[in-house]
Amino acid sequence: MSGGLTAACATVTGFVGDQAEHWDRAGTLPSDLLRKLGAAGYLCPQVPAGYGGLGWDSARDGEFTAHVGSLCSSLRSIMTSQGMAAWTIARLGSEAQQADLLPRLTGGTLAAVAFSEPGAGSDLSAIRTRIVRDRDMLVVDGHKTWSTAVTYADYVVVVGIMDDGGAGAVVVPTDAPGVRIDRIADPLGCRAAGHADVRLTRVQVPAAQLLGGGGQFLPLVVTTALAYGRMSVAWGCVGILRACLAAAGTHAKSRRQFGRTLGEHQLVAGHLADLMIAEQTTLRVCEHASRCWDEGLPDQVVATVLAKHVSATAAARAAAVAVQVLASAGTREGHTVARAYRDAKCMEIIEGSNEMCQLLLADHVLANVRPNECIERPS
Ligand SMILES: Cc1cc2nc3c(=O)[nH]c(=O)nc-3n(C[C@H](O)[C@H](O)[C@H](O)COP(=O)(O)OP(=O)(O)OC[C@H]3O[C@@H](n4cnc5c(N)ncnc54)[C@H](O)[C@@H]3O)c2cc1C
Repeated sequence: MSGGLTAACATVTGFVGDQAEHWDRAGTLPSDLLRKLGAAGYLCPQVPAGYGGLGWDSARDGEFTAHVGSLCSSLRSIMTSQGMAAWTIARLGSEAQQADLLPRLTGGTLAAVAFSEPGAGSDLSAIRTRIVRDRDMLVVDGHKTWSTAVTYADYVVVVGIMDDGGAGAVVVPTDAPGVRIDRIADPLGCRAAGHADVRLTRVQVPAAQLLGGGGQFLPLVVTTALAYGRMSVAWGCVGILRACLAAAGTHAKSRRQFGRTLGEHQLVAGHLADLMIAEQTTLRVCEHASRCWDEGLPDQVVATVLAKHVSATAAARAAAVAVQVLASAGTREGHTVARAYRDAKCMEIIEGSNEMCQLLLADHVLANVRPNECIERPS
């Protein structure tokens, strides 16, 4: 681990301390902590140094994300949202927009991303939010749902349809007149991640807040932000797997039943091996995807979807196994493996559900199949 990464992991470990369980029960975490982490550049570490960021590559960001995910999936989710907002601004925004917005996101300002709507979940072509130009202003109307981190955020990147029929991503201040944020109470997992519905009623925003001038192809806008989110969730799941492996291993080594430790019972030992296999295989798939990002390889997209899918399914299964190993000790509200069980299930739904990932992977297979030849693998 490099010096910068080691220091970042130590800082976050110190900030989180033993609070993750408390934050999960309370359904919130301290916003001053988020602002401190944000001002240190830790919530979006891939932002280049020229914009106040850490300029990390995907592999280093991934290892850090896994570390945060092993401590607290709510905090990791907030980090994912900030990273998605920064990535979207960096990819779709003009130079002037990047110079204006990115230093804010590396300076303690918090941001969320809003695509989903009550009628547009997996099918984002059904987005109905309208972004209408009115001279040098934009008027935004819509209803977004399940936006992570938005209860803490100063800005939300809203994806909508423009009056010319193209798509746009507009950076909306959460305190703008006409923005209403309704917290989602008691979500299944990542309970302190600040999920909320966002209602926008004739919200006026300067046209300069429209990333890249708008009028873009909707799938491009959506996949730009989702790409970062998928990678971040995938690495976050590596963290969930590590937390489960540590908790199950520790418990199996100390708890005795039938005159020996749980780990000495072969069926329990099999669970421990399964947890290690899941953590190691998931790590390799994530490392591969990050390498594709960092080297700009053409298989970046499919490798990212693969990483997200493998990681989310492995984490959800492994968390259930870890609860099984701890049994009653792990079913206590807020316990590491109880949280992992709930948090990991959510990872199978977000940033493209398991089914959506399967469809994308199947599309890759069908596009690359050649009669009597092996399927072309991601490099
Ligand atoms: C914890 C959490 C955090 C989230 N954070 C954000 C966020 O920050 N920003 C944001 O915009 N949204 C966010 N979301 C919303 C998330 O992106 C959606 O929940 C997700 O896209 C699925 O949409 P849906 O829930 O409407 O399910 P639906 O689209 O209604 O799907 C229901 C089920 O049907 C399956 N399905 C749907 N269509 C097909 C098909 N064609 N073939 C096969 N199966 C299909 C799905 O896979 C799923 O299993 C979050 C959601 C959760 C739970």
